[in-house]
Amino acid sequence: MKRGKLVVIYGNMFSNKTGTLINEIETLRNYGKKRICVIKPKTDTRSGTGFIKNSKGLQMEAFEVPGNTPSEIFDVIRREELKQGSDFNIIAIDEVQFFTPPLSIFQTVKELLRKGYDVIVAGLSLDFKGEPFGVTLQLIGLCDDVRDVINLHSRCHECGEQGDLPQRLVDGNPVPYNSDQLKVGGEETYQARCYKCHELPGKPDIEHVS
Ligand SMILES: [Zn+2]
Repeated sequence: MKRGKLVVIYGNMFSNKTGTLINEIETLRNYGKKRICVIKPKTDTRSGTGFIKNSKGLQMEAFEVPGNTPSEIFDVIRREELKQGSDFNIIAIDEVQFFTPPLSIFQTVKELLRKGYDVIVAGLSLDFKGEPFGVTLQLIGLCDDVRDVINLHSRCHECGEQGDLPQRLVDGNPVPYNSDQLKVGGEETYQARCYKCHELPGKPDIEHVS
């Protein structure tokens, strides 16, 4: 069997990753006549239950699986294929950075490709520290062709230049470097910012790390 093809859509928050994924799925369903299974991690609560959704309200039904159990992706696929009496051609996964541990979602995607499924993932590349978020960037290593890598950009909330870093604020203030990767209370908001405007109090000076 031919190995499937992987497309990785990645970028900052507010770069319309989910909207791009939804458009791609609609095109492949309507014109490519593909059967597509859409999956999202349960830890992503922002878009509501049973849907993937972009900030402009564009949404699409999705199956939810626990973000800490990537193997359940196989259970959903088997269950739905049995129910529908036909196999999927493509597996689409949104918010891929929320799956943990990173190695096991990496292996899951690799196995889906080996089984012959095409896979499309969308994910946040960097966290609020500007460091790799989950498995998103590593998955690019499974793509066959540079054209299958879609890097989306946001605009900096402060200066309007290209803004590739998520700025996390709690009660309006930049959170310090040693904060947890995921929310821990307080009024939390995010902005896209450029490398110049991004604020991260307490960030280690890499030039002096030995
Ligand atoms: Zn800026």
